[in-house]
Amino acid sequence: MHELSITSDILDLVLCELAKKGYNKVIKIDITIGDLSGIVREHIKYYFELLSRATPAAGATLTINYKKSKFRCESCKIIYESCDFSFLCPVCKSRGTLVESCASIYINSIEVE
Ligand SMILES: [Zn+2]
Repeated sequence: MHELSITSDILDLVLCELAKKGYNKVIKIDITIGDLSGIVREHIKYYFELLSRATPAAGATLTINYKKSKFRCESCKIIYESCDFSFLCPVCKSRGTLVESCASIYINSIEVE
């Protein structure tokens, strides 16, 4: 359940940016979650709603994108992306080697007014 602290960190960052730039309201936040981060989108949304109450980010739209990790299959030598939380090669179903890991969460953009 590390989504609570992650969401809290995101909100802190957003509110800090807002204050720095002199705006009063957050309209939209766009974030990307790496598929190996283990972060559940619904939990982030839930905690965001909870934590943003009574802050300038209340009611802001939270858009969450997923970034997929890339693997290389040692049998067929193809590069593939993880799919539906399966990390196996889509062609031969053997276990691939991780070549590009996406285990973080990023803020892409913040819309304010
Ligand atoms: Zn394969």
